[in-house]
Amino acid sequence: MALRHSILFPNISSKASQVFTAPLTQEEWQAHTRTLQKLHKVGRLGYWQMSRASGNVYWSEMVYEFFGVTPDGFVPDQDSFMTMVHPLDQKKVAKSRQDMLDIGFTDIKYRIIQPNGCIRWLHEIADNTSPDDPNILLSTLHDITAHKALEEKLRKQAITDDLTGVFNRRYFMKRLRQAFSHFLRSEQNAAVLLFDVDYFKTVNDTYGHAMGDQVLQQICQLFKERFRETDIVGRLGGEEFAVLLFETSSEDAVAIAENIRKKLSDHAFKTESGSTFYISITCGVSSFSEDDPTEDSILHRTDKSLYLGKHHGRDQVVGEGDN
Ligand code: GH3
Ligand code: MG
Ligand code: MG
Repeated sequence: MALRHSILFPNISSKASQVFTAPLTQEEWQAHTRTLQKLHKVGRLGYWQMSRASGNVYWSEMVYEFFGVTPDGFVPDQDSFMTMVHPLDQKKVAKSRQDMLDIGFTDIKYRIIQPNGCIRWLHEIADNTSPDDPNILLSTLHDITAHKALEEKLRKQAITDDLTGVFNRRYFMKRLRQAFSHFLRSEQNAAVLLFDVDYFKTVNDTYGHAMGDQVLQQICQLFKERFRETDIVGRLGGEEFAVLLFETSSEDAVAIAENIRKKLSDHAFKTESGSTFYISITCGVSSFSEDDPTEDSILHRTDKSLYLGKHHGRDQVVGEGDN
């Protein structure tokens, strides 16, 4: 054991590596402390301690860094700590503090806001079974901001269509399912628009597939400008898009779709050689109905309207009354 330690940590004397059998000199303790501080920095780990008796709190160097404050300008008591916790996480953090006092354990992830406005994510695991003093609460903090950013990026990727940046089919269907089940409970209505680009094959054949891709991207750009943040725009496949409009009547949904159709038909698409061309879209519109057994049947009804529009000459919006 001692041999393995001295190979792994050649800068620590063999005496220092036998931590369980021989007391360390002050110099060795200092080297040991510096190593731990370095490891805390590398692993972005910090810890705090609190005396149950006095309420005094100690923060390690890294905790000050996480919070973006310095020991000379900040007293790390419970109140100052809580003012830096993100408003959306205040409730769960307050509960975790109580858990710590009641059962001596907590495991929680939360956000804090540094004085400069930066948000950091922390993972805190507290365990008050201090080896030396049960009246001391101990807690470790791990800065997981980078990990959370990656998690968020992957989450967005999983629900987004790569080419156009709108939601993908799976996510659209999930939101439609949720909205429909909410409607059945609350009768809060929503409408569905289904757009299909007319003669899109001709666009590809005439101007090339890459230009076709740009057309799809520009259509979605217009969708992003026209629809509300809360509306759900999804690419169901190829050149077919669906939009879920919350709290929108059938008539209003038809007017919105008509507005988009006109805007798109006025939009000049430019090729690399400088020529321009125009496209049109056909759209089916439906609103939720208690007669629909599932969300699929809403889409099916909307699809029927869309194909009626195709059948009757394209470049038009077909609502429920038109069927
Ligand atoms: P209409 O809807 O008016 O009946 O005619 P259409 O020509 O649009 O009909 P169809 O649905 O048969 O053709 C859709 C075309 O869209 C075929 C396919 O090659 C093309 N397409 C599908 N996905 C993409 C894509 O991501 N990029 C490009 N450029 N083309 C795509
Ligand atoms: Mg088409
Ligand atoms: Mg199509």
